Amino acid sequence: MNAKKYKGIIQKYSRFLPVNSKTPIITLNEGNTPLIYAGYLSRLVGKNSEVYLKYEGLNPTGSFKDRGMTLAISKACEQKATAVICASTGNTSASAAAYAARAGIKCIVLIPSGAIALGKLSQALIHGAKVLAIKGNFDDALNLVKEITKMFPITLVNSLNPYRIQGQKTASFEICDYLGNAPDFQIMPVGNAGNITAYWEGYKEYKTQGLSKRLPVMLGFQAAGAAPIVRGKPINNPETIATAIRIGNPASWKNALLARDESKGLIDLVSDKQILVAYRILAEKEGVFAEPASAASIAGLLKLIKKGYFQRYLTKQQKIRIVCILTGHGLKDPERAIKTIQPPKLMRADFKTIIKEIGY
Ligand SMILES: *Cc1c(COP(=O)(O)O)cnc(C)c1O
Repeated sequence: MNAKKYKGIIQKYSRFLPVNSKTPIITLNEGNTPLIYAGYLSRLVGKNSEVYLKYEGLNPTGSFKDRGMTLAISKACEQKATAVICASTGNTSASAAAYAARAGIKCIVLIPSGAIALGKLSQALIHGAKVLAIKGNFDDALNLVKEITKMFPITLVNSLNPYRIQGQKTASFEICDYLGNAPDFQIMPVGNAGNITAYWEGYKEYKTQGLSKRLPVMLGFQAAGAAPIVRGKPINNPETIATAIRIGNPASWKNALLARDESKGLIDLVSDKQILVAYRILAEKEGVFAEPASAASIAGLLKLIKKGYFQRYLTKQQKIRIVCILTGHGLKDPERAIKTIQPPKLMRADFKTIIKEIGY
């Protein structure tokens, strides 16, 4: 095989990952996602600033979860597991189902009934997972799978599985490789907080290895109705249209605080309204379609711009680079897009009527 051909994050970054020559690599060529320059958003921040979008929606199943899942499933296979299970707000189940299908092992997923986006549900189903919609929320589902995996030989592939975090940290490597250094700031949504944990580990590791010269300031955003970290206590009934971050008691809470504090960053919240405004701006001004949870990054950026957060850095006359993580693809939740915009106008199939309507 040609060693130069891209074959996913395990092959690319194996020296940073807990794999050996006996690890079977279960991959869909995940990773290697584009870091897209965002002109409109850069101008909003101000002169001397560059905003980039890490478009994780372009992973094989449409979210960053694939980075962690390729490693979690590969290690499960190395350990001769025959079944995996996860609780999911949608994307974890889509990813687990796809990688388990590829590995030829059984996949069971517990999802909160009625609270996952249509695209994600369709993925888990079509890949042949056993999908159970529970009458409860994500936190209830996670408690159940934790209990089940304690008692039965089924591998947990939620981000409590350390291989998930290890795989996900490769996104920070890619950002550093592309920019030639870590960015000054990274903005991302925070749900169960595995991803902010992973990015921070990745940035620290790259710097320790001498592959980047600095660490970014980590800026995390939760949805206002599901912001346990910001409010300092678990939320019993988390609510937000950004279903991927509708989590009331994050598993990696402590590590999220560590990332925030070590990087001198912050974890703040954005309202559903701010998320939807950002969702549209991203699509209309940058041409990038991301799901609502991902738009929390952009809503956070807009909030910080408004507060003048970047001002003191901009006056130093040096360029600042901000990376916003777009965690999942917009097509995951087509219903939300259609609900957010007016439905198309119904027209007679008549030349003159159409010309008039489009203003010519
Ligand atoms: C899983 C997910 C998140 C949240 O990531 P955590 O690691 O749970 O904080 C955000 N956005 C999307 C699209 C996701 O699938």
